[in-house]
Amino acid sequence: MSGPSGAGKDTLVDGLRVRHERLKYSVSATTRPPRPGEREGIEYFFVTREAFEQKLAEGGFLEHRLYNDNLYGTPRSFINQALLDGYDVIMKPEVNGAIAIKERFPEAVLIFIVPDRFSLLQTRLEARRTESNDVIAQRLAIAHEELRYVRLFDYLLVNEEAHPEVAVEDLEAIVRAERMRIHRYPDTRIKEIEEN
Ligand code: 5GP
Repeated sequence: MSGPSGAGKDTLVDGLRVRHERLKYSVSATTRPPRPGEREGIEYFFVTREAFEQKLAEGGFLEHRLYNDNLYGTPRSFINQALLDGYDVIMKPEVNGAIAIKERFPEAVLIFIVPDRFSLLQTRLEARRTESNDVIAQRLAIAHEELRYVRLFDYLLVNEEAHPEVAVEDLEAIVRAERMRIHRYPDTRIKEIEEN
């Protein structure tokens, strides 16, 4: 799931995580300092730049990006293990990260989240009170860049401010429908049906 900062991705992911058991959330590593209330290993693994670069050199990230002067990366080993164990993995990288993941995992489903009114991006970032005005302005500039990638995504989900529960239901509908795609079933299961 990607979309501009302030589109409501975090709330949507949290909403989905409580509804689905067979789903694991991939916790990224970042060099950004934690915001108040953010917990190590839950929202992110908060690491120093040196530690990030070392893991990067060891090939430990599936993809990584510099976003607003901080590094963010998707740990490779967690995703590989979760997929082997039969889980679906949800993650919320910025758009370039999403595109990089689709290149490595063509079966990945890219969902783009936007707010119903774009003025909400600024309102939400300001209401959060965790970033300076400069950082908010930079995030809004990046957000406008990100919107130009929308056509590369598989789904567009409009997160309506007045009905946040609907967006979680829509997200759940996508997960459920995607799980029923023919190509996601084991071939043996499809053969069983064919040969009935
Ligand atoms: P934030 O600082 O608001 O938590 O995250 C900044 C941006 O980085 C958001 O768009 C977020 O989705 C994105 N992001 C978080 N983790 C990763 C990651 O592992 N890889 C990439 N490419 N982007 C990430």
